[in-house]
Amino acid sequence: MMTKDDLIGLLVCPMGKKPLHRDGESLKCTHCGTVFTIENGIPNMLIEEAKLPEGCSTIAELKCVASGEVKYDG
Ligand SMILES: [Zn+2]
Repeated sequence: MMTKDDLIGLLVCPMGKKPLHRDGESLKCTHCGTVFTIENGIPNMLIEEAKLPEGCSTIAELKCVASGEVKYDG
């Protein structure tokens, strides 16, 4: 049977679909650097609630969105 941690290991960034790096109670995208928090064992994968990487103040500024790789019309 798969544990919650196994499932978390399968998650990808909702923006670029790139792997995430687990760091304590957060998951960081290895590509765009967005940080998703894990609350009570449940990752919050909503990009609107994620912590954007340094230098990005909006989702449109994320590396994967700015480059045109990912479409985001929020
Ligand atoms: Zn990403």
